[in-house]
Amino acid sequence: MPHLTISRRFEWDAAHRIPGHEGACKAIHGHRYVAEIEVEGPALDALGRIIDFGVLKSEIGGWIDQNLDHTAIFCRSDPDVVAVAEINAKMGRPVYWMDAAPTAENIAAELANAAQKVLANTEIRLVAVKLWETPNCWALWRAEPPLNL
Ligand SMILES: [Zn+2]
Repeated sequence: MPHLTISRRFEWDAAHRIPGHEGACKAIHGHRYVAEIEVEGPALDALGRIIDFGVLKSEIGGWIDQNLDHTAIFCRSDPDVVAVAEINAKMGRPVYWMDAAPTAENIAAELANAAQKVLANTEIRLVAVKLWETPNCWALWRAEPPLNL
């Protein structure tokens, strides 16, 4: 049986740094992040949709705009970013704190957790999050297959 999923692309700008990195990524620097969020649903609606793309834009895009865009994504145990965090808070763009280092892998997983929470009261299920840190480098988070497959 064919299997349908849909994806929506999101883009935002943010700074980060990787504490303990061996090279330049230990410095605070920025990326134009890109994410593709892929979802599936139990059935198509009367119009033939898994979910309207606009819902993904408003719900998941809204979360990205609120939390990740035009701020910094830092590890909460990183002592070297306190000054930047204070500046961004003053500017109304609080830093987004992660428990883990903000690598592409960990940001993909963080975004997957956020998207799952946003979609929790719908019948839509998150399938994958593909997160580009640069045009050439991306990390892929994939959901476990549902138990009934
Ligand atoms: Zn980077």
